[in-house]
Formats: sequence, C-alpha cells, structure tokens
Amino acid sequence: MLLTITTKRYPATDLGYLLHKHPAKVQTVELTAGSAHIFYPEATDDSCTAALLLDIDPVRLVRRNGAHNDFALEQYVNDRPYVASSFMSAAIAQAYSSAMNGRCKDKPHLTDEAIPFEITLSVLPVKGGEHLLRQFFEPLGYKISLESYVLDEQFPEWGQSRYFNVTLQHTLPLKTILSQLYILIPVCDNDKHYFVGGHEIEKLMEKGQGWLDTHPAKELITRRYLRNIGPLAKEALGMIMKEEVLPEEVKQPKEKVRLHDVRLQTVRDLLLELNVSSVADMGCGEGKLLRLLMEKSAFKNILGMDVSYHSLEIAQSKLKLDRLPEMQKNRIQLIQGSLTYRDKRLSGFDAGVLVEVIEHLDLPRLNALEKVVFEYARPQYVVITTVNAEYNILYETLSNGNFRHNDHRFEWTRAEFEAWGNRVAAQFGYIVTYRPLGETDEVLGGPSQLALFKR
Ligand code: SAH
Repeated sequence: MLLTITTKRYPATDLGYLLHKHPAKVQTVELTAGSAHIFYPEATDDSCTAALLLDIDPVRLVRRNGAHNDFALEQYVNDRPYVASSFMSAAIAQAYSSAMNGRCKDKPHLTDEAIPFEITLSVLPVKGGEHLLRQFFEPLGYKISLESYVLDEQFPEWGQSRYFNVTLQHTLPLKTILSQLYILIPVCDNDKHYFVGGHEIEKLMEKGQGWLDTHPAKELITRRYLRNIGPLAKEALGMIMKEEVLPEEVKQPKEKVRLHDVRLQTVRDLLLELNVSSVADMGCGEGKLLRLLMEKSAFKNILGMDVSYHSLEIAQSKLKLDRLPEMQKNRIQLIQGSLTYRDKRLSGFDAGVLVEVIEHLDLPRLNALEKVVFEYARPQYVVITTVNAEYNILYETLSNGNFRHNDHRFEWTRAEFEAWGNRVAAQFGYIVTYRPLGETDEVLGGPSQLALFKR
C-alpha cells in the first residue's frame, strides 16, 4: 500500500522539512504489523513527492491477532496486507508524527500554512463504494479522482470491487490533511481496527478537531471509526454533538423478531401482488411464512421444504396440520429435502421463496442451489431475502464484524448480493429487481434485502 504526498509549492522540497524526513534518504519505521518505508520518488524545487510504502507482514499479523476468530481461515485469507486500512493510519501516525502534530523544527511557519497538495492512496477499500467515499471527503473540500476495479475480469457482470486508487487534491496545512487521512482511511475501510484501544475516542477527538464536528457525515464517521467498540461510539457522538440529541439510528435497531415479521409480511404481500396461486417455501424452517400464506385463500397450493426434520416437526405442530379440515389440509404439504440436490417435488410452482436461507449454505454450495432453484424447479418467480451486511454496524453487538446468526456462513453487502443475483438471472434467463427490507438507513440500506426474479 502506497501513500504519496506531492506538492509543487516553491520550494517544493520544504516538504522534507515538514515531514521531518530528508529527501535524499530512504527510511524505515518498524510497526507492530510490518514496516513503513519512506522515500522521495522526486525532490526538486518545482515538485516534491514523499512516498510511504506500507509493508504488512502477514505472519506477524496472524500472530498478534491471537486465537480469537469466528472465521478460522480469515486470519490467513484476507486483504489486509494489500490495502490501506487502520494499519496505514498507524503508519502515518508513527512515520509522520511531527508533521501530524504540527511540529517543524527548522521552518515552524510551514505547519500552519495552507499548501496545495496532491495525495494518492492505493489501494483503498471503501465499504459502501464511491458514493460514500465522496460523502466523506468532498464536504472537506477535497477534489477527488478515482480509479476503480472490476471484481473479476472474467465475470464483468459481477460489477465493481470496493477497491479504489484515490487521488485527492486540496490546499490545507499538512497536519490537517494527515489528521483527516488518519481518521478517514479506516472509516472508508470499515473493517476491524487492529489498533483499537481505549484511547480511540481521544484520538478521534484530537484528530477530528476543527473539522469533524461540522462534517455532515460526522455520525457515520464516528460510528465507523469506533466500530470495534460499539458502545463507545455513543459516548463519542455525545461528546462531538454536545447537547444535541443522539440520532435515532445510533440506538439499537428494533429487535430481530420485528424485522423478521416485516420480512415475511413483505414477501406475502409481494406474492399476492404477483397473483401467484402456488408457492414453494424452500428452507421454510418452523413455518412462519407458511402460516401467513395459509391465511390467504389466494394461495391454493403451498409447499414447505426444509433440510431440518426437527424444524418441520415444529412447523407441523404450529400449523396444527392434524386438526385442519380436509380442504385446508389439502392446500399444504411439508417435505424434507435439501436445496443442493435436484428435487422433482419442487417443480411446477408459480413462485419459489427462500427467506434468509442462502446465507446458511457454504458459499461453494450456492452453485448447486442455483441449479436446483433456477434450472430444475424453475418457477415463474423466485423471491430471495438475505441480511444486508452493511447494516451490521448499527447493531452494537455486531459492530466487531460478527454475523447476525452463528449459523450464517456469509453475509453480503448490497453490492455483493446484487452481483450474485445479476449473474444468476443472466445465467438462467430471469430478470431481477432488488429492494431493501425493514427500516432503511439512508447510507447503509435496509437491515435485510430482497431480490425478485422473474422468468
Ligand atoms: N425461511 C425460514 C427459516 C430461515 S432459517 C424463516 O424465514 O423463518 C434457514 C433455514 O434454512 C433453516 O430452517 C435451515 O434448516 C434451512 N436450510 C439450510 N440449509 C438448507 C438446505 N441445504 N436445504 C434446505 N433447507 C436448508
């Protein structure tokens, strides 16, 4: 990961004084998870560039990370050694500490001078994409240009990745630029903070001085910066916003039960709107959706399918199937099966529904599920819901990167869900549309998300 700082203000080599780094030398600073090399690709009076090359040592990263990890392989398979994250902030703080703290021994007047700078950052991960990146930097007056990358050149339909090469231009004192980068790099990344400790609020207050309290996205910045220490975010927001009331979304979102009801209700309303009369609820669990469907006579043929026999037993008893009159009983059937094996009993339905099911399958099994649902069962409509991972930071208990349910094998952002849905639709001849489920956050979307596929 590379951070370059360029100025053309004459004499440009003043940058060396400001950074306390001599342009003729290559210097290395040791960090907890690697090293930072500082050097000058160019240093003339007309143009001077200081580069900070961050070299993360993946082995050290794993060792210092300790044993606690929910996804055992995550500590070996991740993007941390290749992107600008909180490690870059740590590197800035260490390598450029005098500059960031506004100290310059030889030319002290430089520290407060607004100087035109161009900053490049490669590679910056931005959870939330370009829109969010602009929302963080543009209100501060930065001119931004971006280069983004497709997720996989072989599958352009998967869309863009969340990695960017970013160029920022602004005329500001260097200490201000460094402080803003220090906070906003991990805010963009929104991954685990590896250097988070009890002092993070103070750091946020200190580095955010003079710009954060008037920033239109201050709440989001604060929440994301303190994502590893959820409860503290409230305290920090209280401090930043002083007497102002805490915004609604910082409070714990409504409990899960309510959200699930919203989800099921939405799915039923959607099926009514689509005028379908037969529905296969795949991964029906304890039959909550089945019960809602049974209430409406429009649904003449209802199938509940699940891999778990135990769940089906609960569904059977909750639906009181034994006691239903014959006519009602004939409308519904429960079967045990798996969505990863072709199953003739799933074909012939107007609609197939998978409510919060896909995230329970290991990712490599999704291919099989796609074939079972879209190729073999092949209903006119397929409705799929899954949680929206972006929303997790609003749940205190999840702000450390945990999943919402301990059986979840993955949780997708909206972009990831849509990339998958678009690919599946194209592959199997469906068209797909998306909508958020539950109380939506302007930036993060809904707590859950729904895709409607139409053949
Ligand atoms: N749709 C229900 C349950 C969601 S929980 C609801 O909204 O309330 C996920 C369900 O998927 C569980 O009941 C689980 O048993 C089921 N499931 C997981 N893997 C499955 C598979 N391969 N085939 C069928 N069902 C599966």
